[in-house]
Amino acid sequence: MNDVRLGRLTGHAVAGGRYDKAILPLGATEYHGPHLPYGTDTIAAEALAAAFARELGQTLVLPPMPYGVSHHHLPFPWTLSVRPDTLSLVVRDVADSLLGNGIAKLLILSAHDGNAPAAQVAARHLSQDHHISVAVFSGWQRKSQAALAGRHRIDLDHAGQSETSLTLYAAPETVRLDLASMEANEPSGLAIDVVGSFADVVPRGYSGAAASGTREEGEAIVAALVRLVVPHLRLLDAHGWKAGAWMRQP
Ligand SMILES: [Zn+2]
Repeated sequence: MNDVRLGRLTGHAVAGGRYDKAILPLGATEYHGPHLPYGTDTIAAEALAAAFARELGQTLVLPPMPYGVSHHHLPFPWTLSVRPDTLSLVVRDVADSLLGNGIAKLLILSAHDGNAPAAQVAARHLSQDHHISVAVFSGWQRKSQAALAGRHRIDLDHAGQSETSLTLYAAPETVRLDLASMEANEPSGLAIDVVGSFADVVPRGYSGAAASGTREEGEAIVAALVRLVVPHLRLLDAHGWKAGAWMRQP
């Protein structure tokens, strides 16, 4: 079976594909402790995008955006960030480039919390002004936590257990599990979003029970998200990527 990732496909291979939609993975380059790579969020975004695309068919995964909105992580070494406006413009430019190839259906898939507002802004611009049908997926930790409740204890930490598990699944050669640690505190689930430096919240820059991460859990996370998301993408497909009454409960 052909790769679904445009960055890995030759002109010959892509010419034979019958793609009608694309997924743009949005990642980040930021400090994920001594045990996970800087590209953790980019690896997660691309792995989820590829899993969705393989299941869905006729879907091209665009090269992942390696820079995200990470200003809140800049106090930590080698974190690289772009502004929300920059990310939104990049997404819009990439989506515009797809139009010339007959693709006007795009899933923006962010695996980094800081990107979500910029992804939403880009999606609204594309929908309103560019006649591109857009859906957005973000928050994989919270969504897999709900999907795997009772089977896996999925955390919401930064570089914690679930991010370690997903990286062990998608790019095991990048993980230093021997350097992973355990920190017994979690995000408290505030009802408001406080915007500020992550260094003020978690001074060492990473949190959670990373040492408990496993490849099996990473595989379970990807499988659970495929089961959760792909049926909804199929529904969207069946309705021509148009919002409508089908989105309501009977
Ligand atoms: Zn991360």
